[in-house]
Amino acid sequence: MSPEKMSDEDVHVAIFPSAGMGHLVPNLRLAALLVNRHCQVTLITAQPTVSLAESKLLSRFHSAFPQVTFLPFHLLPLDASAANSEDPFFLRFEAIRRSSHLLPSLLASVSPPLSAFVCDVALISPVLSVTESLRLPLFILFTSSATMFSFFSSIPRFIPSISGLDFVEIPGVSTIPRSSIPPPLLLPNNVFANILLEDSPKLPKSCGILVNSFEALELNALQALNSGKVVKELPPVFPVGPFVPCEFEKNEREEQMNSSPLKWLNDQSPGSIVYVSFGSRLSMSREQVREIGNGLLKTEFKFLWVVKDKKVDKEEEDDLEEVVGMELIKSLQSKGLVVKQWVDQSDILSHNSVGGFVSHCGWNSVVEAAWHGVPILGWPQIGDQKINAEVVEKSGWGMWKKTWGWSGQNLVKGEEIGDAIDEMMKNEALKVKAGEMKEAARKAVAGGGGGSSEIAVQKLIDAWKKTNH
Ligand code: UDP
Repeated sequence: MSPEKMSDEDVHVAIFPSAGMGHLVPNLRLAALLVNRHCQVTLITAQPTVSLAESKLLSRFHSAFPQVTFLPFHLLPLDASAANSEDPFFLRFEAIRRSSHLLPSLLASVSPPLSAFVCDVALISPVLSVTESLRLPLFILFTSSATMFSFFSSIPRFIPSISGLDFVEIPGVSTIPRSSIPPPLLLPNNVFANILLEDSPKLPKSCGILVNSFEALELNALQALNSGKVVKELPPVFPVGPFVPCEFEKNEREEQMNSSPLKWLNDQSPGSIVYVSFGSRLSMSREQVREIGNGLLKTEFKFLWVVKDKKVDKEEEDDLEEVVGMELIKSLQSKGLVVKQWVDQSDILSHNSVGGFVSHCGWNSVVEAAWHGVPILGWPQIGDQKINAEVVEKSGWGMWKKTWGWSGQNLVKGEEIGDAIDEMMKNEALKVKAGEMKEAARKAVAGGGGGSSEIAVQKLIDAWKKTNH
């Protein structure tokens, strides 16, 4: 059938996420977006998942979208000592990569034939060798900022001289100081760094890159990437964001529980609450957790604090008193709400009582805050987060403290944390800019063909019609 005669329903895309909520969430939002555009979607899910949060989200997605074909991908056991890391998520990236030769037999049953294969950024090289042998066009979902993508795609250029570099210059995008380079890249033989080093040179072999971003948020980076300023041979970068939080993500059973943060937020006045959360997979030292508690006692503002002290949530957990300390928790509870559970972050950010967000600047959190127009006090902890925090500060709707360092580098004292929260919450200019960002985010996805994300998604679907087998 000629592409002109094909409709969106004829497009069939396989989506292959990697491990962790920071990867699963954007992959599922992309899948939902394509289903809502009437494309056919096959979702390849690595089994087992690392965290309970991932398996719960997958089953809610399954119930919400029965028309999506689920292909469970059973992983081979990984010799962890050979992978040289203790991070359960990096180890799972590696396990998926090392099992990827099993993909062709899994894909043999897929029908109708695939128009394209979209893989997570953490899986590029191994999936590329499969898609090349099956002659399938490979697209990559980059799960961080377009600015981070410009850094990632420049790796072959700067990595040979990295030991002597004070900064990395990305033409047309930004100058990234050594202190903001993701720390694993400065370590010898780190499993995550090895993935980036192996995959970055392969980018030109893919057919396109999808980023959860939009022009008003990262215009320079998007323009530089698509004009060949960053790396000449790159395929087109499609700004398909902001990905919109979806109904299937809501956990209704937990919402009905009395401890629901939403119920508490309902009783607070507009813009009065600072929301404090560091994403799905960050563990801080008990000492640092307690300093955050001290900071929240010091700030003039009331707060909703989601405490996390383990990378992966287990069924049997230390309780809040044990993590935060009995006395401190009592004082905190008279001034705000402290929880140690999975919360529905999008609902919290959408609540009108929330006036600011202390965030690690994981990219999904940043885009969700932009979507809801909530100013950010960035406290980047690992990986790409300083680069993302700088995107927020540069676009004027947030700030971050460069002296606080990476996770575990310094003990940031409560006094400083409290002062920084007050500074962010009282800054009217940040509020105005965050409101403008919210408006721009909504325009980007507006129907009727005018929004930048709408245009990018339609371009992708049209490209997939042409590749149909
Ligand atoms: N999230 C959530 N509830 C929590 C913790 C995290 O809904 O209690 C969601 C958050 O909204 C985001 C994702 O999990 O969509 C985390 O991704 P992000 O890139 O912000 O950070 P990561 O967890 O990967 O560090």
